[in-house]
Amino acid sequence: MASLSLKHINKAYPNGFEAVKDFNLEIEDKEFVIFVGPSGCGKSTTLRMVAGLEDISSGELWIGDKMVNDVEPKDRDIAMVFQNYALYPHMTVYDNMAFGLKLRKVPKDQIDKMVREAAKILDLEALLDRKPKALSGGQRQRVAMGRAIVRNPKVFLMDEPLSNLDAKLRGQMRIEISKLHQRLGTTIIYVTHDQTEAMTLGTRIVVMSAGVVQQVDTPQTLYDRPCNLFVAGFIGSPQMNFVDAKCKVNGKKVALVAGPASIELPEAKAKKLIDGGYDGKTVVLGIRPEDVHDEPDFLAKSPNTIIEATIRVYEMLGAEVYLHFDYEGSTMTARVDPRTTARTGDTVKFALDADRIHVFDKETEKTIT
Ligand code: ATP
Repeated sequence: MASLSLKHINKAYPNGFEAVKDFNLEIEDKEFVIFVGPSGCGKSTTLRMVAGLEDISSGELWIGDKMVNDVEPKDRDIAMVFQNYALYPHMTVYDNMAFGLKLRKVPKDQIDKMVREAAKILDLEALLDRKPKALSGGQRQRVAMGRAIVRNPKVFLMDEPLSNLDAKLRGQMRIEISKLHQRLGTTIIYVTHDQTEAMTLGTRIVVMSAGVVQQVDTPQTLYDRPCNLFVAGFIGSPQMNFVDAKCKVNGKKVALVAGPASIELPEAKAKKLIDGGYDGKTVVLGIRPEDVHDEPDFLAKSPNTIIEATIRVYEMLGAEVYLHFDYEGSTMTARVDPRTTARTGDTVKFALDADRIHVFDKETEKTIT
């Protein structure tokens, strides 16, 4: 069993800086958990505490049924893969992978079996005699993974392992790591600041900001139901559009008024604003780019959620087009069909998908609906 439990974990560095504050998380056996957040939010610090490379200031860290706060890194049954995968340049791929096992005095024939098994899993069999300088970035990264796999750890820790690779290789390695997780069935904790990597790899994602966990959920739930403005803005690319709006209640109906537009909310969302006493208050309306439509059919169906704006930038990406425009002091983006006729300088009517509108409290920044 390689479940992990982080209970009220805090980290204050010797200079007094509090890098992690009251971190709580239960990780189940075989889970693939991602720590994601902007630079400096405390993800590496948390991972390093799990690895035992950094002291825990307070709180408890459990691996399985053992509290490991004071257990040496080498006795924690975990393996870590770093972004600068630091292979030994003078050793072959085989020796790089065998090195840790030799140190631990594992018998030679057993080492051979473990290295060849790992090489097979990672498709490195043909490269075992090469030195690192004769490998591509992605191959080197796979050797670094191989070195971790041969140790057969209960838990894998990965700290931005793909950040040194180009975009294409990163995409390929993401798929490799997913396959590896399925094949090995090991618990993985993976740190990244890249929300795409987080969304595509994780079974669960921990979103952090300034040392504090903001939300822990599956990728889909984080995307559909972010708990606050930070998570809503961080997850998703291009990011969610935000615009200030005034809440106007009329009986059971609620309109969000932003400039000339008055956007009517569906009943269930309206109720949350009425019950929360938001009548007359300014809130933040959030809408994802794919929920801002310019197709005539959609506009005809949604007469109550229409805004009008002038396109500042038309961005063609092949399978889709991003239309960037300013609206009431906010820069917004619509992700539309490439067959759109809208171009830079055009004044365009957009309809928002009412069911997909998010509303946030402007002061607490928490999600209202
Ligand atoms: P990145 O994505 O940039 O690696 P991160 O989320 O992994 O960021 P950490 O490396 O965990 O961030 O650092 C969290 C905070 O702790 C940062 O503000 C950093 O400056 C601070 N910090 C890290 N190491 C120390 C240290 N030894 N002493 C004091 N502060 C530190």
